[in-house]
Amino acid sequence: MKAIIIGGGIGGLSAAIALKRCGIETEVYEAVKEIKPVGAAISIWPNGVKCLNYLGLHENVTALGGNMAYLAYNDGHSAATLTRFSLSPLVKAVGERPYPVARAELQNMLLEQYGKDAVQFGKRVTHIEEQKDGVCAWFEDGHKATGDLLIAADGTHSVIRNWVLGYQTERRYAGYVNWNGLVEIDETIAPADQWTTFVAEGKRVSLMPVAGNRFYFFFDVPLPKGLEEDRSTLRDDLKRYFSGWCPPVKKLIDTLDPQTTNRIEIHDIEPFMQLVRGRVALLGDAGHSTTPDIGQGGCAAMEDAVVLAIALQTNSLGIEDALLRYQAKRNERVKDLVLKARKRCDVTHGKDQQATHAWYDELKTETGERIMAGIEDTVMGGPLA
Ligand code: FAD
Repeated sequence: MKAIIIGGGIGGLSAAIALKRCGIETEVYEAVKEIKPVGAAISIWPNGVKCLNYLGLHENVTALGGNMAYLAYNDGHSAATLTRFSLSPLVKAVGERPYPVARAELQNMLLEQYGKDAVQFGKRVTHIEEQKDGVCAWFEDGHKATGDLLIAADGTHSVIRNWVLGYQTERRYAGYVNWNGLVEIDETIAPADQWTTFVAEGKRVSLMPVAGNRFYFFFDVPLPKGLEEDRSTLRDDLKRYFSGWCPPVKKLIDTLDPQTTNRIEIHDIEPFMQLVRGRVALLGDAGHSTTPDIGQGGCAAMEDAVVLAIALQTNSLGIEDALLRYQAKRNERVKDLVLKARKRCDVTHGKDQQATHAWYDELKTETGERIMAGIEDTVMGGPLA
């Protein structure tokens, strides 16, 4: 059996490693010559870590991950602690730790595990066609690839999604802009072993430790889409949006490097219930694009990869049947993640000011139990729970 995998991001490479481990021949085609991930880092929650463990990457991910032992919310103006608690009850409940990791390092880890030379870079698929007993993909440079099945891991702007669904999906602007990057850990900004988030005005500023004595930081601000802001205005923009905020936030803005800080308008896609057409399967953001508000987009792509590999390995009624079983296992799960993230997004970013202020008040009485129960629920919905 040979699978063509389109896209060499988190989803495509996780799928390639998972299928290879099941003895399935794979070919990976990636559009760009060199992958430069759009974000600085991501948090891999225990459901994602378990998938990486399954792919034989436990030691690698622990080496890249920061020590995120505590979680805290602080008031953005006064820096007063609203809540702070240890994440160890969560780790005990779900059986694995979360690891925030730098994206470039995660990407490199997956590439190394699959085999860097085995990925065909600079190959952008233009269209695909299902043929009798196989699938054919055509590329911009005239190349043609054939396989028994095709995995479309070509991200949120997927060109293959239209072919699978038979209609064009719209990306939905979530109403806020995210800036993210990496800085050296500075404990006058936040503790080194804590996920710290400053909140006020429907905005947030967050820091998570990653390996190499670095904080992954991000800022969220509710804003209209399409503002003319870029790296040249970045520091001034953030200073304006966070004027009157506490000294740690001001220090972070002064410390960050605008040249390596990303600015992203956050989108998702209304969930749809079809991930498969014949011998073609959507995987990762191509099949379910979410806002990053519960940190699950990449984790869900890893889950897809594991479920798809197991479906192909353990079912003997043919490829189409295995893909339908993959779809049946993933549909509700990914819909749930997208909608959960959207709900969280709206509360965090002041869509309804009253709800956001009620949440700020709730944080003052939070012992950790409610927040960890929510994370546990998300994590335990994964395939390796
Ligand atoms: P992508 O990473 O987009 O990879 C798709 C690949 O396909 C790309 O390399 C692209 O070049 C290639 N490609 C595209 N078109 C073609 C084509 N026509 N032919 C060939 N190749 C093609 N997730 C988490 O789990 N935790 C987090 O903390 C988290 N934080 C996030 C923060 C932000 C600000 C954002 C924006 C996202 C975050 N995510 C997080 C989500 C996560 O980044 C995505 O879900 C994940 O990258 C999806 O992986 P993917 O492989 O499906 O898509």
